[in-house]
Amino acid sequence: MKIAIIGGGAAGFMAAITAKSSDSSAEVVLFEKSDKVLSKVKISGGGRCNVTHACFNISELTKHYPRGKKFLKKSFAHFYTKDTVDWFEERGVKLKIEDDNRMFPNTNSSQSIIDCLMGSCTSSGVSLKLKSTVKSILPQKDKFILKVNEGEIAVDRLIIATGGSPKLHGLKWLIDLNYEVENPVPSLFTFNMPNESIKELMGVVATDVSVHIQGNKLKHTGPLLITHWGMSGPAILKCSAWGARELAHTDYRFNIQLNWANLSENDYVNLIKEHKNSNRIIANKNPFNLPNRLWLFLLSKIHIDSNISWNQLDKKSGNRLLNVLFNDSYQVNGKTTFKEEFVTCGGISLNQVNPQSLESKKHKGLYFCGEVLDIDGVTGGFNFQSAWTTGYLAGKNSVL
Ligand SMILES: Cc1cc2nc3c(=O)[nH]c(=O)nc-3n(C[C@H](O)[C@H](O)[C@H](O)COP(=O)(O)OP(=O)(O)OC[C@H]3O[C@@H](n4cnc5c(N)ncnc54)[C@H](O)[C@@H]3O)c2cc1C
Repeated sequence: MKIAIIGGGAAGFMAAITAKSSDSSAEVVLFEKSDKVLSKVKISGGGRCNVTHACFNISELTKHYPRGKKFLKKSFAHFYTKDTVDWFEERGVKLKIEDDNRMFPNTNSSQSIIDCLMGSCTSSGVSLKLKSTVKSILPQKDKFILKVNEGEIAVDRLIIATGGSPKLHGLKWLIDLNYEVENPVPSLFTFNMPNESIKELMGVVATDVSVHIQGNKLKHTGPLLITHWGMSGPAILKCSAWGARELAHTDYRFNIQLNWANLSENDYVNLIKEHKNSNRIIANKNPFNLPNRLWLFLLSKIHIDSNISWNQLDKKSGNRLLNVLFNDSYQVNGKTTFKEEFVTCGGISLNQVNPQSLESKKHKGLYFCGEVLDIDGVTGGFNFQSAWTTGYLAGKNSVL
């Protein structure tokens, strides 16, 4: 039996190693169009590779996927986070859990993951073909004819692991095979705010902010980082992932409303009241746990002299303070994916693929795995987890 895997990323490697280890008599060939494999693994997690997330409950785990939640619930029943941790550990790579539950190799280096995948690929006997672009697929009765560079090869089973394609034309070769695709748009991006002076505070982090996209139901909480181009951090990235499609429709021009300390309106009112009798200088006493630079910025935004004392704050100023803390607003104009863990929302529609086996419902013997599918997660190791799970199942089932 000859099995071809197209794409030398996380999902393709997992599929190839699993197929060959499940049936050593099968000939397993992995085609990669560039001269390097695992290039995203290399740069992932700031060079440390956030391999997975320490969430060992499948229902909880699936909540981190804006696309693919239901599908993955069935796939995770066969291979999930615990299996990923064991899989790497059995091959000599121990993973550690950080405070926010992201998991990284103990070595803090993505090279450990690359060495493990490359080593397992070589020792199991997978044949790796670099600079080999699969240009088209011709399904025949029991085989698939692949056009690879200028030649043709016939294989019995085929695993497509070509990753996310940010543009629809990148999926044309699959559309030509009659697959429905969900229009690809970026997910996990940061917000550009060219007209907002808050950028002066670049580097400042507010630890618990609630971000609401105006005109839509999206609301997410978490740390928010002010950057020299706008805003980033988990609260913003979650909005970008869950709102990937709606925000693409706005051409990335929209307004956001921030609740800076993620408190209720009443909590703010009470905290302001509590301080009304204090003779402490407002600049020096910020009861909302905000970074001091941000606190001073907000006071100046609403024209409150930061040198007055709390007991000098008049009613109107108190209302402005409440408003800026609870309902501050900023204009977004554009997005940035540079250096972030960006992924594609969209890809092969999931209704054409069996979530247990990853086999196509249209072509027997053809499997999909990784980001080419319409699956994507928020940041934190969820995207690799989906690549490991779907790659493992595609590899395992391709030899059955
Ligand atoms: C900067 C960055 C950091 C990230 N960090 C993290 C992280 O820490 N944790 C996390 O969970 N996720 C992270 N992600 C997301 C994660 O990297 C991807 O979701 C994951 O790599 C997808 O794996 P894949 O194998 O499906 O696709 P890819 O890794 O994109 O691999 C697809 C491969 O297929 C090849 N290919 C495509 N078409 C063809 C063809 N026709 N013929 C032959 N070969 C072809 C490509 O060259 C590529 O090598 C990050 C992403 C980026 C961009």
